[in-house]
Formats: sequence, structure tokens, C-alpha cells
Amino acid sequence: MTTEPVPEAVVTDAHLHDPADLLRELGSDAHQGLTTAQAQTRLLHVGANALIEAGQRHPLRILLAQFTDFMILVLLVAAIIAGLIGEPQDVVAIAVIVVLNAVLGFVQEYRAERAMLALKQMMALQTRVVRDGLVRQIDATQLVPGDVVDLEAGNIVPADLRLLDLWSFRVNESTLTGESLVVEKSLSTLQSSDLALGDRLNLAYKGTTVAYGRARGLVVATGMRTELGKIASLLDQEVGKTPLQKRLAAFGQKLSVAVLFICAVLFLAGWLRGEMPMTMLLTAISLAVAAIPEALPAVVTITLALGAARMVRYRALIRRLPAVQTLGSVTTICSDKTGTLTVNRMHVDVLDVADAQAQREACKVLNLCNDAVRGAQGVWVGDPTETALLEFAAGQGWTPEQDRRHWPRLAELPFSAERARMSTFHQDGDEVLMLVKGAPEAVVPRCTQLWGGTGGRHLDATALHEQARGLARQGLRVLALACRTLPGLPASGHLDASECELSFLGFVGLIDPPRPQAQEAVAACKAAGIRVVMMTGDHPATAAAIARRLGIMDGNDKVMTGSELQALSLPDFEREVKQVRVYARLNPEQKIKIVQALQEQGELVAMTGDGVNDAPALKRADIGIAMGQGGTDVAREAAHMTLLDDNFATLVHAVREGRRIYDNIRKFVKFTLPSNAGEIWTLVLASFLVLPIPLLPIHLLWINLVTDGLPGLALAGEPAERGAMQRPPRPPQESIFALGIWQHTVWAGLLMGGLCVLAQAWAMERAGTHWQSMVFTVLTLSQLGHVLAVRSERESLFSQGLLSNKPLFVVVLLSVGLQMAVLYVPWLHQVFKTAPLSAFELLLCFGLAGVLFVAVEIEKAMVRRGWIYKR
Ligand code: ADP
Ligand code: MG
Repeated sequence: MTTEPVPEAVVTDAHLHDPADLLRELGSDAHQGLTTAQAQTRLLHVGANALIEAGQRHPLRILLAQFTDFMILVLLVAAIIAGLIGEPQDVVAIAVIVVLNAVLGFVQEYRAERAMLALKQMMALQTRVVRDGLVRQIDATQLVPGDVVDLEAGNIVPADLRLLDLWSFRVNESTLTGESLVVEKSLSTLQSSDLALGDRLNLAYKGTTVAYGRARGLVVATGMRTELGKIASLLDQEVGKTPLQKRLAAFGQKLSVAVLFICAVLFLAGWLRGEMPMTMLLTAISLAVAAIPEALPAVVTITLALGAARMVRYRALIRRLPAVQTLGSVTTICSDKTGTLTVNRMHVDVLDVADAQAQREACKVLNLCNDAVRGAQGVWVGDPTETALLEFAAGQGWTPEQDRRHWPRLAELPFSAERARMSTFHQDGDEVLMLVKGAPEAVVPRCTQLWGGTGGRHLDATALHEQARGLARQGLRVLALACRTLPGLPASGHLDASECELSFLGFVGLIDPPRPQAQEAVAACKAAGIRVVMMTGDHPATAAAIARRLGIMDGNDKVMTGSELQALSLPDFEREVKQVRVYARLNPEQKIKIVQALQEQGELVAMTGDGVNDAPALKRADIGIAMGQGGTDVAREAAHMTLLDDNFATLVHAVREGRRIYDNIRKFVKFTLPSNAGEIWTLVLASFLVLPIPLLPIHLLWINLVTDGLPGLALAGEPAERGAMQRPPRPPQESIFALGIWQHTVWAGLLMGGLCVLAQAWAMERAGTHWQSMVFTVLTLSQLGHVLAVRSERESLFSQGLLSNKPLFVVVLLSVGLQMAVLYVPWLHQVFKTAPLSAFELLLCFGLAGVLFVAVEIEKAMVRRGWIYKR
């Protein structure tokens, strides 16, 4: 490639220039686009087509944040003071542990941040661009000025464009102008230079959405140079915290205050009893550091982020982190039919026409009133309904290419879910041929005669509807075909006025089989107490046939059509909403009413959607779900998650994963709180019984690092509990502490402290000077036993199997090993002020720690029998 003059990165006032001038200026071509080489050089020059984002943290910042925790700072200061007046090596030991703790926190947070970044990259907007004369799909960040881009309804405009060509192109610019009315665009070059953005009708702006029609445009500005980029700094990009994170953070704060209070009391009590004030101070602060669950909110984030990363492997892409947690308590799933519950690979089963002549005419509709094309290697590209129609016509010997040359398309009224039909206008000699296909209810009422050459024959609409219903009952997707001859092309704004007085040609019935795993997934939902509701724009009889086959509907469940729904007031509908399993002939606006009514009834609703107009309902639903393959950018943007394979079974997988993640957060809480309580109780009980301070600061910090930190994090990897999908969803308002966590915290913490003090009392009597090592060991071991026992809320560890969470098992073994090293490696005695225990003493430590383990197992056995903590 010769040195190409790189054009100005931005064309100012593109609306004042002719497209031809702009194309020349940007060295591009409306049909060929840029070459790949040109695009690459430009990309280097002008940079990626992306808005600069706030919120991403540098690794160093994450690391530093680990030390800015207030209590950690207090601890370090206190340790330094203590070191100055006491033993410097204590300071070093404390500093080392604090650093290790920070590193651990850093590794986790960094991993979580990376996982989120990877998810974000997967969400990148794709766009269709012409390069080297070929249409290709690329990442929108790769666009450069001069690129030629194709847009259709549902797309998000990827850069600022000067429109080159358009077909009924309408755009929603509310992101930019705040104006929610849809703007009809035009091509003509404008004159006045002081037009407001919204009046520059021949431009399409980055970040706005295509509401209707199609267009081709020339990229005139990218990234921060776009109109959106200019105001991007004004957009609020605050990363939302989940309600659970907020609640836990608030709870953690209260708990911190309580812990600090207890520590202060301990300090005073010790001082009054004649302990060295400095020792007492350091102990109290160490206890505060160990017992304040500072990791609680962070662990929620980490668990959610890593869970989201895992879900991608199931082909479920999370866009909003809270969704991970909400998923677990979904009570109703409203799912699209076509593509989600069915495979969306269609073929024509019947073409129901009067005679061979009508069949020829019908095939014309199939070929011409159709946006699909034959792509490379003869594969059909386009909407599955339409490719099926082309394939069928081709099978009858009518190729689309030939027909399209013969009857060129002059204008069109595109298909939309609201219209449920599509019309095209073609040159036919001196006349204009209008072809229509669509849902029987949308087409038959616009027909006035049966097709049959001149004059036409009488049409019986009731009989036709009956005929359509007959096809639909077999589970077929039914389209009606019709045509009309016009003397000339209507004016562009009045095309839809001619969608009447049509001649009816016949019906075509397409098969779209249910997805193989869908039936199983529906059954899984039933077992998990989740109601599945089907929503479709299709015929009620088709919908009912498929719903029966999938087990969504049986005998007395109701099918409701969109118009029936429309006729009901919201309160009336709320009364019926729980009985309806299938909605047919539904248009997107009506979905929001369904979500509202279900939510009013206390349901937590997950809803799928793929069209432009599904966005409000997706936002309104507790979990809005978009489609990765079939859906539009607009729906994906509004949704909380995307199903990359469009598959209903994937959604059910995600629900299972959501339940697992929520359970694991609960388990983390159930493990951490009693552990912290146990540490506090140990010191408080000892003080109560006028025993010496049972643990040194270094012991407390060590426990905080080794037994609280690592095993707690390994709990996040706990596999789903058996029966996680055999129980009803948890009530959405239920607290994370519900079902026994409070009680568990109280008794397990107290028992842990009691065992330690018991060890202390015994050892001071019998073992002599190294009694402290025994207390230290009992506390460590009982926490490790505890973490194994809380792995399940009801199942015993033995039926679960030690190895079913290998990381945790390894961490526990490692921690036991480290504790043994602390006891038996001579140079560590210096650091930890420990001494070796005799075999009997060690056995006693294990035995005491085992008491807690057994107690928790008994608690679980009682849960299994349904004696306690029943919902
Ligand atoms: P679904 O909910 O099954 O995806 P749609 O809203 O896509 O249903 O379609 C509703 C109805 O519109 C279909 O049953 C069919 O009769 C008609 N239809 C679907 N696709 C097209 C198309 N490309 N052109 C004309 N009519 C269509
Ligand atoms: Mg559809």
C-alpha cells in the first residue's frame, strides 16, 4: 500500500456536504468501502472507536487500596510504637502478615476485575461494514472515518454517520437529544450551518438506535470525536452495587462498631487487671483486625464476578452483576417461543394454494417479498423464516436471483412484530406489483378477493381463518400470501395506504421444531418451582401446540392473545395472570403489562426479548434477557444478561448457577461470622474467668490470614448442592441471614470460644508454659473443621465427599500443615512464641476442635429431618 494521505480524523459539519464530496474527501466508496489496509492505517492514526471509560482501576491502585483500610493502618501504627518500646521482631512479623493479607486480597480483587473486563469485551458491539467490497461483521471499536456501514432496525449506531442511502429509516435519538420521538431521516444535503443536532436529518449519531427501516452510512467521526463522545464525560457511568453488597456493607459497618466497642472494653479490663497497656492495646487492635469482617462486601463482589465468568462457559453472558444473584430467586420465566424454545431452523411443510398458477404467483411472493439472500457457497443468509421460503421456492424451480432481476424492488414496508406483515413493491412492465406476506390475521382482513386472474373470486374470511387455524394446530407457523397490481408507485409516505384490496393467494405452513433440550429444561423449572410462560407473536393454535409438546401447558391452562390482554384492565389481568401459560399474537408493548402484573403478584420475573420494542420490558423485568444470535443491539443493551446461544436450556443452567452462587455467599457468611465471634468469645471468656490473655496479637493475625482468608475464598468454588433445583425459589425479600445463620453464628461462635478457654484452663493446669500454643491450635483447627462442616446447609460432609471441593480440601490440608510448622519448626517458635505440643496434647487439640465439627453435623442432621430452620 502506498502512503495514503490520512484524512482529517473528523469531518466537521458533514450534514452540509454532498455524500460524493465526503466520500472523495475520506477516500472511500459507497459500494466498495475502504480496503482493509486503509482501515488499519487509519485505525493507528485516529485510534479505536471507543469512549474513554472511567472506573477501571490500575492494579497498583487495587493493591494500595488493601492497605488503606482504617483498622490496618491503626494496627501498623500501633505495631511500630510497640516495636519502638518492645521487641522489633514482633513488628516485622505483624508487618509480614499484614502484607500477605493484602496480597491475598489483591489477587482476588484483581482476578475479579479481569473477569469483569473479559465479560465487557464479550459485550462489544458488532457492526456490519463494507470493506474490500464485501459486507463483513466487525467489532464496532475497529471502525474508522471513511468506513461504509449498513444498519437495520434494532442496531445501535456505531459511529457518527452521513447517510448514503436509506429505506424508511427512523432513529431514536433520545440518548443524545433527550427527545423520545422517533426521527425520520432523509438524504438531502442541508444548507444552514446552525442546525441543532436533532435537525441534521442526514446524519445518524453514535449511540442512537435504529427504530425502523434500513440505511447505509459513511463514518465521519469515531470515538471521543463523535457527538456522543463530546458529552460522554457527562454520562454517569457509576458502577452499581448489588442490594446484597449494600446491605452487607451496612451490616459490616455496624458489626465493626460493635467489635471496636468490645475491643475497647477488653483493653480497659485488661489494663485494670494490671496487664501491660501496650500489650493490651496491640491485642485489642489485632482482635479488631481479625474479627471485623472487612472482606464481606468484597467477597460478594468477587463471588459474583467469578460466577459471571463461569456462566460464560454455559453460554450465558452477564451484563449487570446483580443479575447473578437475582437469577437464583427467579419465580417466573417468560420466554420467547421462536428461537429460544424452538430451534429456529425452519422449513416449509405445506404451500396451500388453489392451483398451479396460484402456486407460481405464491412463489413470486416467497422470492421477492423477502430480504434473505443466497450467500457464499450457496448458503441462505437472513431471517430463518425467510430463508426457509427461498429454499422452498428454489426447490420448486424458482430462483430468487432471477425473479429479483425480473421484478426489481422499488419500495417496501418492512416486517415488524407489531405489523406482523411485510409488503414490497416491484416494477412489472408498466405497472407496479405489490406483494404481501404475513400473519393470517394481519393479511386476510386486507384481502377483498381470492386471486384468480381478472375479476377475482369471492372471499370467505371466516373459512380462511379456519383453514389457517387447521395448519396452526399442527404446530406450523402460518403465513398468508397476497398480492395487488397498482398503476404506479404510491408516494413514499403513503405506501401503507395501499395495503388493502389485496388478492389472497394462499397459506404457507412452516415447521420449527422444539429445541431438543427445551422439554427437559421446562421440566427442570417445574421441579425448581419456577413457572414457565411462553410469549410469541405467532398464532395461538401454533403456540398452544408447541407449548403442549414442551410441557409448558396442560389441560386447563389458558392461552391469551395480545388483543385479549389489551382489553383487560391491569387489576383484572392481575387476577388471571397466574393461570396464563401462553401468550400468542403478542406485540412487544404488551410484554410490559405482563411483567407488571406478575411483579404485582409478588413474582420475580425473568423475561426474554429480542426486538427493539422489547427494551422497556427487559428493563422492567427483574432479569431482562437478550439473545446473542438472533437479538438486536437495543435489546442486548437493555438486558441484564444475554443468552449467547439463544437457548432456553442455557437460561435454566444460569438459574442453577445463580442459586449456587447465592448459596455460596451464604456459606461464606455462615463460616466467617462464627469464626470471628469465636475469636472474640475466646478473649472475652478468658477475661471473664480472670485467666491471662489467651492469644497474642500475632496469633490473631495469623488466624485471620490462614484460616479465615483462604478457606473462606475456597468456599466460593463449592459446587451446587444436590437438590438445588428441587426446591422452590427463595423468597426475593428473604435476608441472607435467614434460615439459621443468626442462630448458627451465636451458638457456633460461643462453642468455639468455650472450647478454647477450656483448653486454656486445662493446659495452664497440666501443660505448663506452652498453654498458649494449645489455645492457638484449638482455635485454628476448630475453624478448619468448621469450614468443612458448613460446606452444605443440610448434607453431611461424608455424603458430600471430602474431595467434592478439592481447592477447599487442599487449603484445609495446607492450613493444618502450616499450623504444625508453627508448632514444630524451631525458628518459627521465635516468631509465633510457640512451643511443640506433646502427642497427647496435639490429640486433645484435634479432639476439642472435632467437637465443633460434630455439633455442626448434628445441626445439619436436624435440618435434614426438618426439625429446624424450615421455610
Ligand atoms: P415469534 O414470537 O414466534 O418470533 P414473530 O413476532 O417473529 O413471532 O412473528 C409473528 C408472526 O408474524 C408470525 O407468526 C408470522 O405469521 C409473521 N411473520 C414472521 N416473520 C415474518 C416475515 N419475515 N415476514 C412476514 N411475516 C412474518
Ligand atoms: Mg420472531
